[in-house]
Amino acid sequence: MSSAKTTILVTGGAGYIGSHTVLALKQAGYEVIVLDNLVYGHQDLVEKVLQVELIVGDIGDRSLLDNLFHNRNIAGVMHFSAYAYVGESVKEPAKYYHNNVVGTLNLLGAMEAAGVHRFVFSSTCATYGIPQVIPIPEDHSQKPINPYGATKLMVERILADFDVAYNLKSVCFRYFNAAGADPHGRLGEDHSPETHLIPLVLFTALGKRESISMFGTDYDTPDGTCVRDYIHVSDLADAHVLGLEYLLKGGDSQAFNLGNGKGFSVKDVIETAKQVTGKEIKIIECDRRPGDPPILIGSAKKATTILGWQPQYSSLQDILTHAWQWHQKRHK
Ligand code: UDP
Repeated sequence: MSSAKTTILVTGGAGYIGSHTVLALKQAGYEVIVLDNLVYGHQDLVEKVLQVELIVGDIGDRSLLDNLFHNRNIAGVMHFSAYAYVGESVKEPAKYYHNNVVGTLNLLGAMEAAGVHRFVFSSTCATYGIPQVIPIPEDHSQKPINPYGATKLMVERILADFDVAYNLKSVCFRYFNAAGADPHGRLGEDHSPETHLIPLVLFTALGKRESISMFGTDYDTPDGTCVRDYIHVSDLADAHVLGLEYLLKGGDSQAFNLGNGKGFSVKDVIETAKQVTGKEIKIIECDRRPGDPPILIGSAKKATTILGWQPQYSSLQDILTHAWQWHQKRHK
């Protein structure tokens, strides 16, 4: 199916989901070039752990992109480079629109000029806004409630128009809550600053933080805390390879949700983390965090039907166990 000679450009391949996907691409026999400006990415992960070619540069640099597409026979692009802090996007929207939209437009322009017509895009369930139906299907209305989600939706719209005008075929993956780490401990989550629940809970178990703040305990959910659909990062990575192969075989442009279709509350996550780590985790009950929908659960039936995607790690236990292995190793 895949050929050792097929070369894929992965932007943001030094980041969390990007690096796990580079690993999956390598294992599937692809040649990978990573383009990353290393603002948030990790050089060592690409060069030492993944051992693939890293070009340090920005998606905003058109001449770099033109040279790259001219000199290398690139069959498709997987685009992970984006800013992804929801709170920051509210405070600094210009930064988000500039990088996530203008930068992507620049990348798409260079692809179009070079005749590269296959694109796998990191989108997000944040494009839906407040869900009207649970689990959320792909044809749910898309009304993002923060600039981050808006930037991703804009790119989805650009891709739809580029398909009509330029025959650019794309797969947009709308992730639910990416979590966990490579089961073999090679890669994991390493954000700075870290804002996500699972790593912060595990930092607390490690003694790197005093306590975990529980944002809101009065939601209209079974235990009063927010419910999310946590999806293992290695399962996300596998979906990207399937999405790419779907496009390489001539598939039409599509958007797919990637989630487990199961919801876990903030309390569930903390309780499971206590079991997995064997540590006490001190909780501080806080006010709600602005912009948090009470429940986000996705239906990924479409990815199963069209791509044949089946998540391997649907239990919170597995997700937390792999994340715990990674964080223990990182903070030894
Ligand atoms: N959350 C929390 N404490 C934290 C970080 C997150 O209670 O320190 C909650 C957050 O309000 C949300 C859930 O955990 O309901 C998942 O948040 P995260 O930032 O991990 O992902 P998001 O759903 O925002 O993409």
